[in-house]
Amino acid sequence: MRVLLTGIAGFIGSHLAERMVARGDDVVGIDNFDGFYDRRVKERNLAALRGKVELREGDILDAELMGQVFAGGRFDVVVHLAALAGVRPSLKSPARYQKVNVEGTTILADLAIRAGVPRMVFASSSSVYGDSTPVPFREDDRADVPVSPYGASKRAGELVLRAMHGVHGLAVSSLRFFTVYGPRQRPEMAVHAFTRAIERGETITLFGSGTSRDYTYIDDIVAGTLAAVDKRDETFGIYNLGNSHAVALPELVGAIARALGREAKTVAGPQQPGDVQQTFASLERAERDLGYRPTVRIEDGVARFVEWYRAQPQDG
Ligand code: NAD
Repeated sequence: MRVLLTGIAGFIGSHLAERMVARGDDVVGIDNFDGFYDRRVKERNLAALRGKVELREGDILDAELMGQVFAGGRFDVVVHLAALAGVRPSLKSPARYQKVNVEGTTILADLAIRAGVPRMVFASSSSVYGDSTPVPFREDDRADVPVSPYGASKRAGELVLRAMHGVHGLAVSSLRFFTVYGPRQRPEMAVHAFTRAIERGETITLFGSGTSRDYTYIDDIVAGTLAAVDKRDETFGIYNLGNSHAVALPELVGAIARALGREAKTVAGPQQPGDVQQTFASLERAERDLGYRPTVRIEDGVARFVEWYRAQPQDG
């Protein structure tokens, strides 16, 4: 299968690309090495992919580059992961988030349709559910009260794709990822940041110690995403990819400390604007249509993360 994968140098994109290469897919990857975190980290993410994928460095908003990419041969699917991904930073630069996440998604869908690409898989987020959706979150919940510009940008991306599916028949799977973790997780995300702090003996401020998250191991996310890539129908579908297991913040810190064999020093802080109280996925639909079943428990996933973390140069 010939695949266009945006965001290939990132956490999820690099794992997905490795799995695709291993099964024989022909992958063209785009990434602009956005400065949200250190370029060296992204270069390391790509280490096992060098020479095995066609890598194009550049911005999905660059019309000339994207024109060249689509002119290079017909793709069977576009997997669109490139985005500005942090929740809290989206409060500081909401317009940039809309530009990359909404306009970028629109441009890609438009190019895909013009080039006759039949299918697109989009990385959406549990953030679309905001703070007023009852748990477990279901894909048919309204999801029209996001609490961060990031969540709004992902919901807007879904709606644009829904419209383009209706008009042009582009098949779409929009995957709402629930807090993904594992080796190569973005450095600012909770599991990674807490591991770093505990390892260095620093005190962790728990912003919103009463909050809980549905943490999903990267291998489960990759399996669910590949199932969406391989779908052969012409529908528009939204799917939660989570773990369906709520973990409170102190519980997460405890699991990391145990995996590290260290004590965690914590102080309580207020819940941050843009953050939600809880996330918790209903997986009924993903199981029915994608055969999705998460397999990695939080203790095991955290242990695997810690093992990876300790093998990394601590420069980024
Ligand atoms: P990441 O930041 O590691 O990867 C995103 C990649 O996209 C980066 O390498 C970045 O350089 C690239 N990128 C950003 N803007 C670009 C642009 N304009 N042109 C080209 N490339 C660009 O993030 P991730 O954690 O791997 O997330 C991947 C996707 O999954 C994102 O769409 C994110 O919103 C979504 N998501 C992630 C999580 C999670 O827990 N990690 C949860 C929900 C949704």
